[in-house]
Amino acid sequence: METPFTEPASYANFIQDIITEDLKMKKNEGRVHTRFPPEPNGYLHIGHAKSICLNFGIADRNRGLCNLRFDDTNPSKEEVEYVDSIKEDVRWLGYDWDDRLFYASDYFEELYRFAVQLIRDGKAYVCDLTPEEIRDYRGTLTRPGKESPCRSRSVEDNLKLFEKMRAGELPDGACVLRAKIDMTSPNLNMRDPVLYRIQKSSHHRTGDRWCIYPMYDYAHPISDALEGITHSICTLEFEDHRPLYDWVLDNIDIKYHPRQIEFARLNLTYTVMSKRKLRELVEKQFVSGWDDPRMPTISGLRRRGYTPGALRDFCDRIGVAKANSVVDIAMLEHCIREELNLGAPRVMAVLRPLRLIIDNYPEGLVEELDADINPEQPDLGKRKVPFSRVLYIERDDFMEDPPKKFFRLAPGREVRLKHAYIIKCERVVKDQETGEVLEVHCTYDPDTRSGLSTDVRKVKGTLHWVSAEQAIKAQVRLYEHLFTRENPEEDREGAHFTDFINPQSLEVLTDCLLEPGVAGALPGSRFQFLRHGYFIVDTVESKEGSTVFNRIVSLKDSWARLRQKA
Ligand code: ATP
Ligand code: MG
Repeated sequence: METPFTEPASYANFIQDIITEDLKMKKNEGRVHTRFPPEPNGYLHIGHAKSICLNFGIADRNRGLCNLRFDDTNPSKEEVEYVDSIKEDVRWLGYDWDDRLFYASDYFEELYRFAVQLIRDGKAYVCDLTPEEIRDYRGTLTRPGKESPCRSRSVEDNLKLFEKMRAGELPDGACVLRAKIDMTSPNLNMRDPVLYRIQKSSHHRTGDRWCIYPMYDYAHPISDALEGITHSICTLEFEDHRPLYDWVLDNIDIKYHPRQIEFARLNLTYTVMSKRKLRELVEKQFVSGWDDPRMPTISGLRRRGYTPGALRDFCDRIGVAKANSVVDIAMLEHCIREELNLGAPRVMAVLRPLRLIIDNYPEGLVEELDADINPEQPDLGKRKVPFSRVLYIERDDFMEDPPKKFFRLAPGREVRLKHAYIIKCERVVKDQETGEVLEVHCTYDPDTRSGLSTDVRKVKGTLHWVSAEQAIKAQVRLYEHLFTRENPEEDREGAHFTDFINPQSLEVLTDCLLEPGVAGALPGSRFQFLRHGYFIVDTVESKEGSTVFNRIVSLKDSWARLRQKA
């Protein structure tokens, strides 16, 4: 049966083109099999999300399979905690590897046997040069390499030495196994690259069984081939390694030969995107952990309030390119805003409260006013919001001595209270010593209740508010970019990326007041706080009786504005 290979335009990219062509040519018996191969040396970040969406997405769209494979060939930096977090993050993004969970360390025995084969065929040798000498002998782009004196070792000697390496009879760094390729190759990766090194450290899965570990460039192609991968998708920095990828597979006896395809990695403004740097932020406590809501990790974005759908949508929209570029972080924010505009119930929340008393409103009266749950979805109906004589409004929404363009509350001025009445400011009560405004006293016009037929008068400003007696208290955390520079990684004389951490990236507000309908909201629930943005009940620090909200994003959409201008 012929499979139709027409893709929706949004899926079109050069990798899909290659796969479509391969399917037409009946390459790989018509199979499509990809893999996502993280090294378990840190938590996944949004860049990895792009690779996950690409690999699992391509498999889905082409009736193929995608494996999850831990590239755990470097025992010193890897931990079980990272393995667990990576699995959780991939699943949370909405992808499933079924029974195809693999570890490069599962292949150590086979990798060893293939190395023995290379030695037997005269294509690998044990080299005693020190790491410094190896580097020096390798040459540079303009200077050809020099052959190691060990290059002419006999096959027998090489086999014996390699066995000794494996048996732990030689100390760390005593020698390495190298491929015998070409010391004059214009590609430095082909100048007798190292395949194995001695490292006497425990591995999180193989324990102390091995004291030699394969290098990535050797283990990766073989792991791919053993799993029958058809398209090995990786980032651009591996382009120069592709000849080595192919050399390894061409020189051993193995059934499959996957095709390596490189794409541009994702970079985001105001963000660092390497596990090493993210780990530094965690270890030096610039952030509270890998899941700090300011981190670009998947766990950080999840805690911040991003949804899997918004991240997948973002990865779709940025597309797949062959040249590196930097994506505006505003685009990521746009994706979650768009989703939550449709999905998040509306709430009034006063983050910095100022007491407001309506002097002519009956004492003890509580009216239950109607408000839309979400005006974008009228079918959801209304919620009730209590209104009474003592309210709180936002401190910023009142000015005693306002400039001309200030349309909010000021002495003698009128504003509308959202879903309620028009009020007029009559006087203020101040702290005798500091002069700080403690209370605003107003009168209300009973004929102006929202939705009533008598409600015809218009005023310029509309304020949100909560009723003092019924409001619930909460802590709210506001976030800004973690870095003050668009490109914190850019090399500047003597500067380190942590020099550009934004001291204002976290603001904690402890006395916020919310309308009572939010009481008991479960961790992970998302809301729009009118005029403030989208918020999520923190999943880590919210406790019974003390709710913590994280601001996901404000309402201001700089990305949408940019696009309108364009
Ligand atoms: P980092 O430099 O952040 O430590 P890495 O490439 O070393 O990342 P791996 O665990 O080796 O991390 O990555 C697993 C997969 O994710 C690889 O295929 C890698 O190419 C891909 N990947 C890593 N970072 C990005 C990124 N910023 N954009 C797209 N893909 C990425
Ligand atoms: Mg890596």
